Amino acid sequence: MNIIFLAPPAAGKGTYSTLLKEKYGFSHISAGDVLREQVALGSEVGNKVKDIMAKGEMVNDELMAELIETKLKSIDISKPFMLDGYPRKLNQVKDYENILQKLNLNVDKVLYINIDKETGLKRILGRVTCPKCNKGYNTLTGYMAPKVDGICDDCKTPLVSRSDDTKEAYEKRYDIYLNETQSVLDYYKEKGKVIEVDGTKDPDSVFKEIEILLGDKNG
Ligand SMILES: [Zn+2]
Repeated sequence: MNIIFLAPPAAGKGTYSTLLKEKYGFSHISAGDVLREQVALGSEVGNKVKDIMAKGEMVNDELMAELIETKLKSIDISKPFMLDGYPRKLNQVKDYENILQKLNLNVDKVLYINIDKETGLKRILGRVTCPKCNKGYNTLTGYMAPKVDGICDDCKTPLVSRSDDTKEAYEKRYDIYLNETQSVLDYYKEKGKVIEVDGTKDPDSVFKEIEILLGDKNG
């Protein structure tokens, strides 16, 4: 099984991709990581990217497709994998489908974790962490709150706020993401491949829903 993973900022993509990886053996292919990895490896496509970035130019669709194809050819595609951060627009969808066709694959599912802007904002702004044991909490979401306000459950250390985003920055990131991915979502909705999960619930319930919707057998 291969899936495209779509989720607005703060929807919990990191959490769920880790769980899918641990429980079902999904490879997690992040477009940003692939780019950095190929540059570091000095592969043919990596060197092209390096030249382009040195000129201060953007990596175009063609090169992005080449990166993704190189990566997919380097992994065992008989095992489940999820693609994250690609494709982000309709042109890239066409490119990606061409790549998959060469590998005798189809997009199986598009997993969309839906979260509204307001809930996403609470997640971002409510983030607090224990500076001693690194345990994370959230004071605004209604779950993941510490038992005693401002104090770590485990080691009783005062918690510190660790929001690296402002309200404005988050809202901007959110709007850009939605704008960019809407056409991808619409395309796959029409094909009946989109699994939409309500990402505003607590992470355990969200992941259970993902498991049910993806089906038990992920091979
Ligand atoms: Zn602690």
